Amino acid sequence: MADADYDVLILGAGSGGYACALRAAQLGLTVGLVEKGKVGGTCLHVGCIPTKALLHAAEVADSARDSEQFGVRATLEGIDMAGVNSYKDGVVSRLFKGLTGLVKSRGITVIEGEGRLTGPKQVTVDGRTYSGRSVVLASGSHSRSLPGLEVDGERVLTSEHALRLDRVPRSVVVLGGGVIGCEFASVWRSFGAEVTIVEALPRLVAAEDEASSKALERAFRKRGIVFRTGTRFESVERTDDGVAVTVEGGDRIEAELMLVAVGRGPVTDGLGYDEQGITLDRGFVVTDERCRTNVEGVYAVGDIVPGLQLAHRGFQQGIFVAEDIAGLDPRPVDETAIPRVTYSHPELASVGLDERTAAEKYGADGIESVTYDLGGNGKSQILKTQGFVKLVRRTDGPVVGIHLVGDRVGELVGEAQLIYGWEGYPEDVAPLVHAHPTQNEALGEAHLALAGKPLHAHS
Ligand code: FAD
Repeated sequence: MADADYDVLILGAGSGGYACALRAAQLGLTVGLVEKGKVGGTCLHVGCIPTKALLHAAEVADSARDSEQFGVRATLEGIDMAGVNSYKDGVVSRLFKGLTGLVKSRGITVIEGEGRLTGPKQVTVDGRTYSGRSVVLASGSHSRSLPGLEVDGERVLTSEHALRLDRVPRSVVVLGGGVIGCEFASVWRSFGAEVTIVEALPRLVAAEDEASSKALERAFRKRGIVFRTGTRFESVERTDDGVAVTVEGGDRIEAELMLVAVGRGPVTDGLGYDEQGITLDRGFVVTDERCRTNVEGVYAVGDIVPGLQLAHRGFQQGIFVAEDIAGLDPRPVDETAIPRVTYSHPELASVGLDERTAAEKYGADGIESVTYDLGGNGKSQILKTQGFVKLVRRTDGPVVGIHLVGDRVGELVGEAQLIYGWEGYPEDVAPLVHAHPTQNEALGEAHLALAGKPLHAHS
């Protein structure tokens, strides 16, 4: 006999787990939500939200430093990390308070403690057992390291340690030029640190369209961020006042700190998943497109499921699963239509296929692309940001990829996603009215150009 039974029992209260809990409760189901840390998980406490607060503080610092170009006289006197951290922590704690209030008001039972799957439909927490008619695994992810690379939290850090730093480091080696590495590199550079990124792949944020990566690299170079792409890390040594990082070829890079940002692995070890017969692939939980594992009634959502490790994917999967359990027959999450944003200065945002993948899929003659430079966009000129909107379409067909570069372009990805999700043709999007002057207009302009009638762009 279980100590308590629920319609839905969820293991992990991060983006995927809590979204599932909120929606299931809204649909009248009883919900048990097991969490060993804080409701909100990685995204709220040590991921999306605190990093974006740091990035905003970095933008404020850049505005002060560059104020003269707007005719405003201001000087940047320095960064008060205690103040920055208190602003960041304030944002997190207000959102946390709101979320816990919401969870409570929906009648969800939060079961505090470390859970383990001890039956296909049963979770044990501190010796008490809980059962669910349906069980949702949502135990999330953790920072990965490399074999033999020891993270000590003092000189060699993960993103979690980096978020708790009480000072601006003099210099940092960022190991990994993916999204998380580039975001921290961008923040620290704006705060005045010397930053070197070491990346084994040939370019920064290599999952993005090559043109976007190249634009980010140009912008970073201009900002004095050093990057060594196509370069493997070999070892790190502690020195008297920091670290010495040796890379392929024998070069040594000295710095005060090193951030390890080489990806995130699933939290599935030791949780009883394999003992209960759940199929795993390199630690990730294998599901079908309806988030169902191979064990009947057991679902998985979020970062433990292979695919993009993004909070909004987890939210949507969580909502989907709750509706599926409630018998609403919802539409599965379209994994190809998940928007991606790198919130550095400048930002990258995209949805759909990059040009190379589109060409592989449809043939080089089966696609067309156009790039609209933000130089022709009034609002971008006002903001003094550079970048572009790049569209990839199937020849005489819908838009299959949208790629944006420039400060604040992350805010445009919603419209890009609608166009992609609706399989919009440039000819359908071109007549839509975009408010002037907004950066949003650049999306309209790019579609006008691809429809063969460019307005503020050369034919
Ligand atoms: P998590 O949020 O990791 O939640 C899992 C929860 O399960 C945790 O609270 C954990 O404590 C709990 N748990 C695990 N095991 C147990 C157990 N045995 N018993 C009880 N509880 C358990 N994504 C974006 O979309 N946008 C961003 O800007 C963004 N920025 C990021 C920045 C950083 C630095 C990082 C690290 C990540 C970022 N992400 C971002 C990714 C995002 O945080 C994750 O995709 C998202 O949190 C995944 O949600 P999840 O529910 O799968 O897992």
